[in-house]
Amino acid sequence: MTTLRIKDVFKRYPNGAEAVKGVSVDVEDGELVVFVGPSGCGKSTMLRMVAGLESVTEGEIELAGRVVNDLEPAERNIAMVFQNYALYPHMSVRKNLAYGLKNRGTPQAEIDRKVDEAAKLLQIGEFLDRKPSQLSGGQRQRVAMGRAIVRDPAIFLFDEPLSNLDAKLRNQMRLEIKKLQRSLGTAAIYVTHDQVEAMTLADRIVVLNNGLIEQVGKPHEVYSQP
Ligand code: ADP
Ligand code: ADP
Repeated sequence: MTTLRIKDVFKRYPNGAEAVKGVSVDVEDGELVVFVGPSGCGKSTMLRMVAGLESVTEGEIELAGRVVNDLEPAERNIAMVFQNYALYPHMSVRKNLAYGLKNRGTPQAEIDRKVDEAAKLLQIGEFLDRKPSQLSGGQRQRVAMGRAIVRDPAIFLFDEPLSNLDAKLRNQMRLEIKKLQRSLGTAAIYVTHDQVEAMTLADRIVVLNNGLIEQVGKPHEVYSQP
């Protein structure tokens, strides 16, 4: 089954800039698709349109069988993970994880269960009572992932989530993200300009250039070209 269908999508910003010029991609259930390409190629615009943070000028985005073009971000079954996912500094890790669920009126017992489950998966159980400032960069990134996981989204949207970490931690977190995404079986789009990241993470790579798809394929297909 297909989690996400992106059909003939165009994006023209109000200033006339054409960021995306006719892109079609399907993301299958459980698949991790990496959008890669140089700065300005349209990666973030693509992701932000899927998230509902930017409007779609032309074309269609269908999530779990439903056209979502006109839905607000909160009405879409997505969870984003950014590089600087703003954790609430005055709240404990537990409260940070619970916040979105509380807002949605999730019963407390279910919140507790989900938070504990995510904390266990991410190995942050012993930090639940700390504030974000008392965590390392990698631990903070795990909390950001936890906030995405507790939402039980149809798809994860990763926007260069590791670009603020040092090289060693980045490698480690990359493997963790992959493992986690696999074990949850949740589809994902991962945006990066880093080919190594693309190669090690992707089930499928979409290479964007100047708002168009230049190439699509499995990592070895895309990067074994002369
Ligand atoms: P990437 O994420 O690959 O760096 P973007 O999606 O951010 O690329 O940008 C694609 C193109 O759209 C670029 O030419 C960029 O300058 C332009 N662009 C991005 N955001 C806006 C905006 N809010 N208004 C006008 N043009 C934009
Ligand atoms: P609410 O559901 O009351 O809008 P949330 O905190 O659950 O409050 O979500 C706030 C907004 O942020 C929503 O539009 C949601 O779709 C969006 N969002 C996307 N990714 C995340 C994330 N990883 N964590 C929290 N909110 C996210």
